[in-house]
Amino acid sequence: MRPAYTLAAAIAVTIGLAQPLPAAADTEVETAVKNTANPLFQPSPLAYQFPPFDKIRDADYLPAFEKGMAEHRAEIEAIANNPEAPSFDNTIVALERSGALLGRVSRVFFGLTGANTNDAMQKIQAEVAPKLAAHNDQIVLDGKLFARIEAIHAKRDSLGLDAESKRLVERYYTDIVRAGAKLADADKTRLKAINAEMATLGTQFSNNLLKETNAAALVVDSKDALKGLSDGAIRTAAEAAKTRNLDGKYVIPLLNTSGQPALASLEDRALRQKLLDASLTRGSKGGEFDNRAIVAKVVKLRAERAKLLGYATHADYVLADETAGSVAAVNRLLAQLAPPAVANARAEAADIQKIIDREGGKFQVAAADWSYYTEKVRKDKYDFDTAELRPYFEADNVLKNGVFFAATKLYGITFKERKDLPGYAPEVRVFEVFNEDGSPLALFLLDLYARAGKRGGAWANAYVPQSHLLGTKPVISNNLNVPKPPAGEPTLLTWDEANTLFHEFGHALHGMFSNVKYPRFAGTSVPRDFVEYPSQVNEMWMTWPEVLANYAKHYQTGAPLPQALVDKVKATEKFNQGFATTEYLGAALLDQAYHQIDASQAPDADSILAFEANALKKAGVDFAPVPPRYRTTYFSHIMGGYSAGYYAYIWSEVLDATSVEWFKANGGLTRKNGDHFRNTLLSRGGSADALSLFRDFSGGEPNVETLLERRGLNVKH
Ligand SMILES: [Zn+2]
Repeated sequence: MRPAYTLAAAIAVTIGLAQPLPAAADTEVETAVKNTANPLFQPSPLAYQFPPFDKIRDADYLPAFEKGMAEHRAEIEAIANNPEAPSFDNTIVALERSGALLGRVSRVFFGLTGANTNDAMQKIQAEVAPKLAAHNDQIVLDGKLFARIEAIHAKRDSLGLDAESKRLVERYYTDIVRAGAKLADADKTRLKAINAEMATLGTQFSNNLLKETNAAALVVDSKDALKGLSDGAIRTAAEAAKTRNLDGKYVIPLLNTSGQPALASLEDRALRQKLLDASLTRGSKGGEFDNRAIVAKVVKLRAERAKLLGYATHADYVLADETAGSVAAVNRLLAQLAPPAVANARAEAADIQKIIDREGGKFQVAAADWSYYTEKVRKDKYDFDTAELRPYFEADNVLKNGVFFAATKLYGITFKERKDLPGYAPEVRVFEVFNEDGSPLALFLLDLYARAGKRGGAWANAYVPQSHLLGTKPVISNNLNVPKPPAGEPTLLTWDEANTLFHEFGHALHGMFSNVKYPRFAGTSVPRDFVEYPSQVNEMWMTWPEVLANYAKHYQTGAPLPQALVDKVKATEKFNQGFATTEYLGAALLDQAYHQIDASQAPDADSILAFEANALKKAGVDFAPVPPRYRTTYFSHIMGGYSAGYYAYIWSEVLDATSVEWFKANGGLTRKNGDHFRNTLLSRGGSADALSLFRDFSGGEPNVETLLERRGLNVKH
């Protein structure tokens, strides 16, 4: 379960203008125009319009944003004031073509503030976020523009439009209405103020979180304390200390989630507790990076905005435009899953407790013990340690002989590394992707490693979205946070990291196979509770026998992963699912709790932690050994594009599980199946209703039983 932050979502709503530029900005624009050396001002001359990362300086962004907004405003003004009667071409298509520079700088800038930021960029981000929110509001709240869109929408059935074009009209109308186009002027003014404040708060939250996470890394003085970690992990910790000028010490950086990988192996119980505490208290322990007040303000503002727009709560507002369709539908699924998940987690805790007792530990299992003893249970029950797999999961091998191999088998596509196209960091790799007939398809970037300026987690983003209207082919990036091994050592992936590589590549396929006319519909421009589905499906190939045999080879000897180990992996597939599902549901239910309230019920900064505890208790997922996967103050999904939307992972897993059954029933890894998935679904982006695309592919309806079966949650305890 990993987010794909699609930038399309961040900028697709940017459509238009009404007010003149403030004087200060005018001056900046003039300065920028004189600066012809700014590489963002023109489309990149490189292949596929690959961004010229090596030529872009931090100082280029602000002028490009200012010029981009000014150009966009002028374009929108021309559309809104066009003396000709509104037509599909002079309004809707013109909007699709508008904002080229703003889109270009936004995709590069926000791609890099996620993957490779620095203090200068964070400062720019803080400055530009409210300006972009205001820019967007000027467009969507422009009465003249809305009147044109409304007129075209009213007669859309009689315009002779093809299906994709008609859907584009409907999408523009829905987007602009949802953005407040029908509000009275006083409400529009309040809405603009709310959006501007939220843009600032959102930037503060993510900048705080990055700094707090870096500062909260666990520093350990002596190697002895690290007993249990592998030699490689200890060397990595020593390297991490060196990059922080802490030579001779050891540093364990924090991942974005509550749980931390080192908890599985650290023998020192007190150190495990310290590591988990460092993780769980991020953003809520006071100090300059505390996020409680920010969350409190955002929750309240969202509730107020929802009411302005005619919805009972923010969740009602968000879910109305998702495939789930309503708060009730989401609550129903989460309520169906929570009791069996917690029951399974309690059964797993009992297994863990047995081992603790057997070893003479005089304590009850706590959250910091879970991973450590889970590994022991795994060994006990299945005679299997996940660390045994890593020598068979060398990163380059997993990528080329696993991820790429599966894609070639399914879709016929091939890959060629393009070392002539420089990434934004030395370890970023660029591949050109070709169709089976040799025609060029896309560029694929892989940014595998963790670094200080990169936010946690894994995600995919588009630097160039595909569009026949604009003549662009996709440039898609995958971002992970694999710890960088010491120089000269191989990157050996964990099971989860290898799985993440397959998952994120599923998003990349969705972006690269995009075959739509309008950029509004490119690739992953689909509802949030649908976007995870194709990427989750791609995870199935990681353990597909033909794929596994092709990549899982020992990095030193080349020996294949022993069948006995494969069998053990298969046997443990449903293992620990009580924990995994409970920690996920904890976060998903928390997200809904914050967003299914009105402004009067919103907690203040001091009661955020109490609100969190109550929400978990009320939902029946307050099982102390299993904290939510994210706690409020470091839950970036709910501050960004996934607010009221974190349920989407398990919602789309129902589609995923149903689709995996389809592939299995139809012969698995074949070109025929790949083409069918590509033609009916992956290539269609958002150009048709999401669930109808699912039905086109699977020939049936989503089936929740397939999900329960997969997670072993249909077993009663
Ligand atoms: Zn994802």
